[in-house]
Amino acid sequence: MLKIHSIETMGALDGPGLRIIFFLQGCPLRCLYCHNPDTWQVDKGIFITDEDIVGKALRYKPYFKNNGGVTFSGGEPLLQAKELVDILKTLKSHGLHTAIDTSGYFNVSDAVIIELLQYTDLVILDIKHENAELYKKITGHSIDKYLHFKDILINKANCKIWLKHVVVPGLTDNPQHIKNMEKEVKTFPLERVEKFELLPYHTLGQSKYEALGIDYALSDTPEMQMDDIDEIKKLINLDCLI
Ligand code: SF4
Repeated sequence: MLKIHSIETMGALDGPGLRIIFFLQGCPLRCLYCHNPDTWQVDKGIFITDEDIVGKALRYKPYFKNNGGVTFSGGEPLLQAKELVDILKTLKSHGLHTAIDTSGYFNVSDAVIIELLQYTDLVILDIKHENAELYKKITGHSIDKYLHFKDILINKANCKIWLKHVVVPGLTDNPQHIKNMEKEVKTFPLERVEKFELLPYHTLGQSKYEALGIDYALSDTPEMQMDDIDEIKKLINLDCLI
């Protein structure tokens, strides 16, 4: 049984091919630019049984073709890591491609995460920042959980990796930081890293903050333009950069 916020069918962004995406409820981080603040509260959301999840995934299997599959995103999917293990195992037994989209925050034992990653084909890891102080400023949390997850992902798992990073004007767009991000990506086993994506900051989630009565800290920050991202990409020399 998982607690979810919503389900997206036929998504094309959260992993390869066409996918069914389960957005799990609950996230301990408070990223300044989060566009899903409605996924934060663990006491909200709705329960869905394992059978329902697997049944829904199998219904869409014909559309997945060779590379599509099932993604668990959020919120923070690793908050429900224990519950996810059996579901991922079952999905794999049906020959489905599995992915998790995470910031790396977990609060279970390493053994649970190691087992979960055995049944995960792809980890999409959102690197909030490579610097501890700025990681805290962006997320409200210590960088330690990210570093711990990264260590397990690199040393105790073998799944493919997509890395991503949100570029926010005035916060994460300065050239030195971008060069540091390049170094951070190079600390991963590059033979397993299929993609590194720089995502432009956008303000699409801002109205959700108003509806929820939460202050939006970046209300004076302009959106990041794609042309600027293209310029920033020129600072990075990595084959996996898309
Ligand atoms: S980790 Fe994701 S869901 Fe959680 S606050 Fe950050 S952007 Fe939002």
